[in-house]
Amino acid sequence: MPTIAGRSLPAARAKRSNRIVTTKTRSLDSVRNIGFIAHIDAGKTTVTERVLYFAGRTHRIGGVDEGTTVMDWMDQERERGITITSAATTCGWRDHTINIIDTPGHVDFTAEVERSLRILDGGVVVFDAVAGVQPQSETVWRQADRYDVPRICFINKMDRVGADFYKAVDSISHRLQANPVIVQIPVGSEDEFEGVIDLVESKICRFTDTVGSFREGPVPEEMIEEYRTHRDVMIEKVAETDDDLIVKYIEGEEISKEEIKEALRRATVDNQLVPVTCGSALNSKGIQPLLDAVTDYLPSPLDVPPVTGTDAGSGEESFRDASDDEPFAALAFKIVSDPFIGRLVYFRMYSGKMETGDSVYVSSTGRRERLGRVVRMHAERREDVSEVRVGDIAAAVGLRSASTGDTLCDPRSPIHLETITFPEPVVSVSVESRTRAGEDKLQESLQKLSEEDPTLRVSVDSELGQTILSGMGELHLEIVADRIRREFKVEANLGSPRVAYREAATRQARGEGRFVRQTGGRGQYGHAILEIEPLERGTGFVFENKITGGAIPNEYIPGVAKGVEEALLTGPLSGFPVVDLKATLLDGSYHDVDSSEMAFRVAGSMAVKSALSRARLVMLEPVMKLEVVTPGEFLGDVLGDLGRRRSNIRSIEGEGDIQVVRAILPLGESFGYANALRSLTQGRAGHTMEFYRYEEAPSSVTAQR
Ligand code: GDP
Repeated sequence: MPTIAGRSLPAARAKRSNRIVTTKTRSLDSVRNIGFIAHIDAGKTTVTERVLYFAGRTHRIGGVDEGTTVMDWMDQERERGITITSAATTCGWRDHTINIIDTPGHVDFTAEVERSLRILDGGVVVFDAVAGVQPQSETVWRQADRYDVPRICFINKMDRVGADFYKAVDSISHRLQANPVIVQIPVGSEDEFEGVIDLVESKICRFTDTVGSFREGPVPEEMIEEYRTHRDVMIEKVAETDDDLIVKYIEGEEISKEEIKEALRRATVDNQLVPVTCGSALNSKGIQPLLDAVTDYLPSPLDVPPVTGTDAGSGEESFRDASDDEPFAALAFKIVSDPFIGRLVYFRMYSGKMETGDSVYVSSTGRRERLGRVVRMHAERREDVSEVRVGDIAAAVGLRSASTGDTLCDPRSPIHLETITFPEPVVSVSVESRTRAGEDKLQESLQKLSEEDPTLRVSVDSELGQTILSGMGELHLEIVADRIRREFKVEANLGSPRVAYREAATRQARGEGRFVRQTGGRGQYGHAILEIEPLERGTGFVFENKITGGAIPNEYIPGVAKGVEEALLTGPLSGFPVVDLKATLLDGSYHDVDSSEMAFRVAGSMAVKSALSRARLVMLEPVMKLEVVTPGEFLGDVLGDLGRRRSNIRSIEGEGDIQVVRAILPLGESFGYANALRSLTQGRAGHTMEFYRYEEAPSSVTAQR
């Protein structure tokens, strides 16, 4: 048994010892770009708060419940207790720089999660020790899988009545099909949650009465059995990922703590294992060991594969190593309009070094801009920096043309890094200012907000003269209206939500478009024959040119494609866009003098409209994934109501008196669901909902349109 002399580590000392490593002094392997991800209410915000506190960057502990947190700096976030925008903030731990990218827990803000996952290197997934894996943690876990983000888990709320660490870990294996490896076990739980035992270091961190402090010591006698059992499991799991260690393990040789750490780090970075720690963020317990695990096991920018993109000149695939010696390249992941400082473009550096005053190539516009000012963020506080290097996360002030997903890079070696994709909005409302005077301000606020949030669109319904706001769900749009009121001081009225239907073809069809005007002077001549065919859901629009023998000269082909695309924006059934369609241009003709791109645009549009009229179109409606957690006594009412809403019940699972209903619900039937559920269940049920996909709508819906 290793013995460690008891020593106490009060919070204040821990704080002082954690200096921030400046860009100049740090080496890249000591940088961690991480995000905390979780189901809403699991305690992500509280954990982030405590991490910032113990990593020495805030001077008081914020509390979500009192609405004083550092990360949740927008008013309505404080009130609603959910984190909507992702701020990036920097802190230091054990000579490491930790950049924290805040990710929202609410699934209505999928875009925020997606963009955070795209730019972070590792994640800390926070679970509630009572609830274990919850639906949103499942959603976010799958997203993290898609981006191959290495993770560690933090089982939070060990103080709660009913907290069950091992059951929560089990739910990670079963519901997420992950391979968790426990690296810290709790000593006691609920009221008696007294400390954690670090299985790698073989020591106990026993919490003291001073908030946030603990005393380290040898594993106590009464815990030895439990410690050994779990340590053996840990070593076995780690050894299985490493050829040398497995031999040692089988031969019964001692495996050192350094060997375990190293192999565990490799396996975590490689996404083979997920280390699990635990604590109670609210009581500031287990945060420092969590920070140790972040630095020990999560990847540095050097550990992740080089970022890929396409060379802006040749169009060929290209990549950048995470090295200072490469030309600089960064990805803009968020735009924020700051009332004081102006337009902030948050970016992550993937290679090289960028200094203020440098000329920067912005990929979407092809423009060069001068990098005027760069700031590093600590939620509301910011510090100016004169250079940023590979691995850094910072924000540029005054870059006018950059938007979310843009590459910012060295104009001498322009590259387009793989961009961030966002889902199309599925619900719209009309929005108007309550007063005439507010109208301009409303437009200005909408422009700023839609620039910040790529899943928010603003358009004008010219027939009704209304401004239309489109987004990812009812709550999403409500929050936007809230921000308009608070941040821009405009009282706005929202209309009732409307579903963004789509139209789709169900069979192949051909169409011909002939646009000919030849009455004196220079005429117009465009002629196109094309075939359309349905594509799989979610594919979008594909155009293929199969013209041979110059029936239509190459210079006019883009005109045809443009015309087709324009025509698809207004489908023949109800005026909703036609999606998931391939158009193949087969034939046509031209006139030496009268043909123009414009004429072919019209011809393309006419041809596809003619084809659509024969393609047996159907309406598609967005459907949502719904999960309701309700006390058993209301189950019948909840199901009855869902039945009336045309929902498709996927599963009903019960545990104790709590029933979990998973269902698919058409978006059009989901409006007002929060209120309905509240009144059905006396406010005792909760639900989460997120966009799932488009499905063919029944004819009753089509008929109403
Ligand atoms: P988020 O939605 O995941 O960001 O969660 P929050 O940090 O806002 O926490 C949700 C609620 O759980 C708040 O009321 C917190 O005070 C509470 N909470 C957070 N951590 C703990 C904990 O360790 N123990 C207990 N009992 N409650 C916690």
